[in-house]
Amino acid sequence: MSNADINDAGLHVEEVNLVEIAKKYGTPCYVYSRKALTESYTAYRNALAGHNDGNSLICYAVKANSNLAILNIFARLGAGFDIVSGGELARVIAAGGDAKKTVFSGVGKSHDEISAALQAGIKCFNIESSSELGRINTVAGNLGLVAPVSIRVNPDVDAKTHPYISTGLKTSKFGVAYGEALPLYRFAATMPNINVVGIDCHIGSQLLDSAPVAEATQKILSLVDALAAEGIKLKHIDIGGGMGIRYNDEAMPSTAEYLAPVLKTLAGRNESLLLEPGRSLVGNAGILLTKVEVLKQGGNDRDFVIIDAAMNDLMRPALYDAWHNIVPVRPRSGEARLCEVVGPVCESGDFLGHDRRLSVQEGDLLAILSAGAYGMTMSSNYNTRPRAAEVMVDGDKTYLIRKREEVAQLFAEEALLP
Ligand SMILES: *Cc1c(COP(=O)(O)O)cnc(C)c1O
Repeated sequence: MSNADINDAGLHVEEVNLVEIAKKYGTPCYVYSRKALTESYTAYRNALAGHNDGNSLICYAVKANSNLAILNIFARLGAGFDIVSGGELARVIAAGGDAKKTVFSGVGKSHDEISAALQAGIKCFNIESSSELGRINTVAGNLGLVAPVSIRVNPDVDAKTHPYISTGLKTSKFGVAYGEALPLYRFAATMPNINVVGIDCHIGSQLLDSAPVAEATQKILSLVDALAAEGIKLKHIDIGGGMGIRYNDEAMPSTAEYLAPVLKTLAGRNESLLLEPGRSLVGNAGILLTKVEVLKQGGNDRDFVIIDAAMNDLMRPALYDAWHNIVPVRPRSGEARLCEVVGPVCESGDFLGHDRRLSVQEGDLLAILSAGAYGMTMSSNYNTRPRAAEVMVDGDKTYLIRKREEVAQLFAEEALLP
């Protein structure tokens, strides 16, 4: 287990027992480890140190987990950020992140978002269509500014991951088709309020093997060279995010092993390298701590373990049929039974784990592992459930980094008819 360890006292994160956290902050509750966050970032930094004199920037993909404390930890470590909305830009700035190290991705940037990003002085816009390019040129012109841009090219390689998180095929809504990239760059180079600075791609998520990324990088490099031959010189190459994490028993290479084929493809290049990792920086640095509310006998020899966390807290199982390890905080010696671990939400899709062997009683604490990425950020208030608290562990200390929501807050902005 990379994000929680077990000893005689039960499951703990760094030096803090999860029983103590449940007592102090209640459940359900996301618990993160500062040490794990720092280690995953450092693994990237070390792997990139030898490439192009360390001329690389790790732009953390904010959508994986956008809590200000987490953004702040990465900002202090020197990270840049990859954002997909004006809201995420505001978070980066509020967390002490550097706009000059921030890239803005996403297929539907609004006028207001573009304007806010230009005024904040971001590093570049990752352009996803010719329409967007024109819009950015116009907005920049109105503000008397020049927009730094990179075109997100769709390299048409198969990332071989879940279809919902595969983004590099030509049928995907993301990026500009490979064959349209050169003409779009030529056009961009003629625009008065556009400065072409880079190129990027992002082919998918939870990749266990970087061969498709290396293949995409190779295709991107031919575009970079073709552009240079026409006098359009790019400063950076952004290969996106996508490195997976171990949820179960996946054979996962280390960060250095994963990046090696890509760095080999890029060896000797002068352009600086950007990466946009999300999941691999935070996924295994967080767990969702939950309590067993009710045990219920089901048909088919399955018991239902109904917990106080649900699909609104952690959507990945319901959305992608994703598998998360679920472990008791204090293991019992009793016979383990086959269980369905479900939440209280009124949907049959509200499950956290199918077919788990568990020995639990009502009131027991469970930890849902590998929940640091796409957990809290995808949460909702479905069924008028307040969002969970978030806690950061740092050594033997704990910090509340997001207070549990209160029910009254959830409808405070609603209004009755006169
Ligand atoms: C989601 C996303 C990322 C991060 O993906 P991970 O799989 O979490 O590393 C990076 N870049 C873009 C453009 C994204 O949409």
